[in-house]
Amino acid sequence: MKKLYVFLGPPGSGKGTQAQLLRDSLDCVVVSTGDLLREEIKRATVLGKKIQAVVESGGLVPDEFLIAIVEPLLSGLNQKSGAVIFDGFPRTVGQAEQFDQLLTSLGRSIEHVLYFDASLDLVLERINGRRICSDCSRTYHVAYVPPKQADVCDDCGHALIVRDDDQADVVRKRYQAYCEQTAILRSYYADRCVVIDTSRTLDSITQMVQETFGCGHRS
Ligand SMILES: [Zn+2]
Repeated sequence: MKKLYVFLGPPGSGKGTQAQLLRDSLDCVVVSTGDLLREEIKRATVLGKKIQAVVESGGLVPDEFLIAIVEPLLSGLNQKSGAVIFDGFPRTVGQAEQFDQLLTSLGRSIEHVLYFDASLDLVLERINGRRICSDCSRTYHVAYVPPKQADVCDDCGHALIVRDDDQADVVRKRYQAYCEQTAILRSYYADRCVVIDTSRTLDSITQMVQETFGCGHRS
């Protein structure tokens, strides 16, 4: 049976990068609520427009919007192979409680929660170099995860850009909102939470994450 994981951490903590590495190296499905929200915005649905207003103000998307997006995905999980990583969800105690209820009704539970710990200074330094593909949404970092060719996506060849919500003032607001609403999930999930110190090198972070998945690499 596939194991479910939750990746928690402020924007710029590197959790998305680790999820992407696992997707590339293992048989993992990554459910990024950030990507799902951006898709909803792109499609300009009623929900998408509401989400856009919240994101542009630097706030966190309300629980009921997230649940409305995640719920239909959950029933399809059993057809997928490998581990499933929820990247950036749940974000509040309310979402975590509703998520637990949904999982219980499906006879499932979360295996581990990986908490990517990062200071605001570290986050600002990291996000400064972050780029995203304008077409397929794959993420890069000019120093840590550079594309093979500068400013061009390895996968699809489209241009890399700086995302609107990676601007410094928006990042500060999101970090503060994260501290107020999401950091508490570290104690909510205390019985299955693994804390990752993200001030370490990318290699040692990757090793720690992969050991949690039972596939530690020591090369
Ligand atoms: Zn691309």
